[in-house]
Amino acid sequence: MKTKLIKILSAVMLCGCASKSSLPKVENTSEINQANFHFQEENAYGYYPGTAIFPARNKDYIFHVFATEPEIIYIENPNEKENKMTPYCDKAGCTHEDETCPAYIGEWTYIAFYKNKFYYTGYDENRNLFLKELDPSNNNRRIVYQWDRPANGEDSATDLIITYGNAIIRKDRWPLNIDTGEQQIVTETFLINLENGNCDLLAKDRDFQSNYSVIGGTEDKIIFTKYEIDNYMSLGDWISQGKSESSYYEEYIPPLDDHVALVSMDIKTKKEIVIAEAEDGFVRYSDIMNKIADDQLVYVKNDEIHLYDIRSEEDKIIYHLEEIRNYWIIDGKVLMLTSDKNRENLKEYIYDWQYDQMYILNNNGNTEYMDFGVDTETENGLISIVDRQWIKKTDFYNDNYDDIVTLW
Ligand SMILES: [Zn+2]
Repeated sequence: MKTKLIKILSAVMLCGCASKSSLPKVENTSEINQANFHFQEENAYGYYPGTAIFPARNKDYIFHVFATEPEIIYIENPNEKENKMTPYCDKAGCTHEDETCPAYIGEWTYIAFYKNKFYYTGYDENRNLFLKELDPSNNNRRIVYQWDRPANGEDSATDLIITYGNAIIRKDRWPLNIDTGEQQIVTETFLINLENGNCDLLAKDRDFQSNYSVIGGTEDKIIFTKYEIDNYMSLGDWISQGKSESSYYEEYIPPLDDHVALVSMDIKTKKEIVIAEAEDGFVRYSDIMNKIADDQLVYVKNDEIHLYDIRSEEDKIIYHLEEIRNYWIIDGKVLMLTSDKNRENLKEYIYDWQYDQMYILNNNGNTEYMDFGVDTETENGLISIVDRQWIKKTDFYNDNYDDIVTLW
């Protein structure tokens, strides 16, 4: 009798599953294979002080650059338990205090690691903002581009991303208006060729309230979102939609502005293609990291998860999930977080587009937040920048949190 009851219950549950095509086909996480995917080969994110922890591509090394002295590059191997972090300098007796040291950076504002070289913004002795390249293997350094300091003012970099040999830098210029005594901020986004230093103005924002976030690109195109940052649904309207006050965060509220758009722009012609817009259900996330890999862009429109091929412009829906909180491309797969409207009952999904398979992860039994907050990856591991932790990919897929390495 008992067996029969279980069979009936199973049948009911199976029927329930079959009727809802959005449920994953496979839930056995041990079947997920590490892709050894050559992640983010052509897209390198710039980090600002306090977060400069980045993986060496296709290795398990992690670099750190601190914002306080000594402002030098450190290297750490999370597979080694002892003496984990050392200056990235092979000069005998070096005190790492100036540019004769291959690990020395000095005062910096943004830094990225791209094809075994470091690119960082900083100031020369006359407070001119520069983008500098450092090859730590031979300590070759050069200024890639420099802006002349404005009269009575200063430039400051506010974003850096490198994609296919081009650095894209957003910068604020703070010139003092002599007549009014006020500072008027001008925000501009530049595309700078790392090889020849050609500098191209991509966008001049109407004012500092508007924004232009570059996600990545190819040799010919860049992908970005355009949005207004001060035009969100009020807390009262948010609550009147049946949502909780605690879920009222900028990244979860669709901006009201009609011009929020996900755009692909041809670098040469400046022609823009709108991939998706807020009025069609596109949801902008303030977290732009790891939305592109292998020339594929992942984005969300309503309950649809789209994979957009940047080169061919082919756009396909890979899955349907409601209340998607965030998504990334990690290890050649799309990692997605969902929860109910009150940000409870969180679920973690992985979609492997190579095999068209969807998996649900156990998330260590945690239904409130991601137990290991994935930000980026090394060859064999995942990194949580906020928690400064590293976990082997296979352990993450198999819900084993016993061997998490705490980084510096
Ligand atoms: Zn040194």
